[in-house]
Amino acid sequence: MDEFDNLITTMPWTCRFSDGCPVGWHTADYWVNEDGSYSIDNYADGDHDPCDKKDIPTGEEADNGWNEYAEYCAKTGLDPLDNYCPLYPLTRQGIWQVRFTKSILGAVFRGARRNSRGPWNLNPPEFVREYLLLEPVGTTEYFTYRGIDKDGSKIRELWGLVSTPMRTNASDGGRNALKFTCEIKEVIPPSDHAKQRAIKASARRDINSRKEAP
Ligand SMILES: [Zn+2]
Repeated sequence: MDEFDNLITTMPWTCRFSDGCPVGWHTADYWVNEDGSYSIDNYADGDHDPCDKKDIPTGEEADNGWNEYAEYCAKTGLDPLDNYCPLYPLTRQGIWQVRFTKSILGAVFRGARRNSRGPWNLNPPEFVREYLLLEPVGTTEYFTYRGIDKDGSKIRELWGLVSTPMRTNASDGGRNALKFTCEIKEVIPPSDHAKQRAIKASARRDINSRKEAP
């Protein structure tokens, strides 16, 4: 892209969905080329069209364009140009109670439940299965403990997971049972509502800071 050397300005614009895109907004890049001619890259995708110098937005026009975009984001909570506040996944540490029994197959998973409450879940969420190094038995819903991390290099001792050994009794499988609790980190993606609220707040801050700017 040597011939398009100098980006003058980037400006958002709305197609109002007329081009069939799902987002409604795009950024246009304005360039001055080596031979002194000007070009516009309407979708910032490398597809340049020649334009005149008078088509190049002034600083104020570009600012107004970004303001219009900010108003749109503040109103809708949408940010199709990813200009505001990317929310990173949240993690939380959960306490899970887990049980296994011993069999000729090795340690067989008998369920897990968050905060030691509720029914035992034989098919827990993936982050729990991954932490406990569970692997499915055939095509059934049952899991066994495989003891090897994904990359195959590390063997994790099942007994090493035990933080609070529980008393076992006959109903838990007696001496052949292991029941314990462990802390498992869980990644929680932000809800759509939380995302929209954060985008509205960032866009409003942006609008206000533009007003305050000299
Ligand atoms: Zn569009």
